[in-house]
Amino acid sequence: MKRQIIIANWKCNPIAAKEAKELFDSVKEKAKRFKEAEIIICPPFIYLSSLKADKSIKLGAQNCFWEDKGAYTGEVSALMVKDLKTEYVISGHSERRKYFNETDGIVNKKLKAILNAGLIPVFCIGETQEERYNNQTEDILKKQISLGLEGISANKFPLLIIAYEPIWAIGTGNPCDAKEAQKMRLFIKDVLEKNYNSNTAEETMILYGGSVNSENSSLYIKQAGFNGLLVGGASLNAEEFIKIIKQAL
Ligand code: PEP
Repeated sequence: MKRQIIIANWKCNPIAAKEAKELFDSVKEKAKRFKEAEIIICPPFIYLSSLKADKSIKLGAQNCFWEDKGAYTGEVSALMVKDLKTEYVISGHSERRKYFNETDGIVNKKLKAILNAGLIPVFCIGETQEERYNNQTEDILKKQISLGLEGISANKFPLLIIAYEPIWAIGTGNPCDAKEAQKMRLFIKDVLEKNYNSNTAEETMILYGGSVNSENSSLYIKQAGFNGLLVGGASLNAEEFIKIIKQAL
């Protein structure tokens, strides 16, 4: 059986390095008992160098730039985060699409940079409330997958992680119904099979994200068949995050 992947996306939190270290160490201490899960913490860039990953807990970045280095003020490249023992990078998160105008084309460039650096991408896709209401969810997911992975052949990704994150469920306390999420998971597999092959569809790890908490985490794994979870707000509380993992396994 595949290991579950549980990712914490701290977003732009916490404010102080001391708090970040305390939160990380507290999760790390308790994470040791979950041998069957890959637990990944994605803190803001600035904390990556002070948090020490080990066998029980890995590091991920929330973003990266698509060039390796150069005159790009304020940017951080995939190679730079790799140098800090980071193994995963999120790309395509809806907050980056919304607040930083990241298009599918930009996400594609970033995914290529992540893969070229030998890192594992956590590729986020999902529809808005309006798109769901207008029955456009499948078209949107198909477009995001096809454009995001354009020009990337299956042998480029030793492991691809796709996070299905309906935008209306992120940070709202209004999670997607597990049955509906399962339908989308199967649809994503279908698109991967058509765009690539059945092996890629089988091997790709598909996670659910959007208002996950300790009350609902098991539904997405045990009922809807996801390979893991991407957790935002609830991952800022070590106890709740550990409960989420415990319930999900
Ligand atoms: C996220 O930021 O990817 C996310 C799923 O957030 P939340 O868990 O807070 O909805």
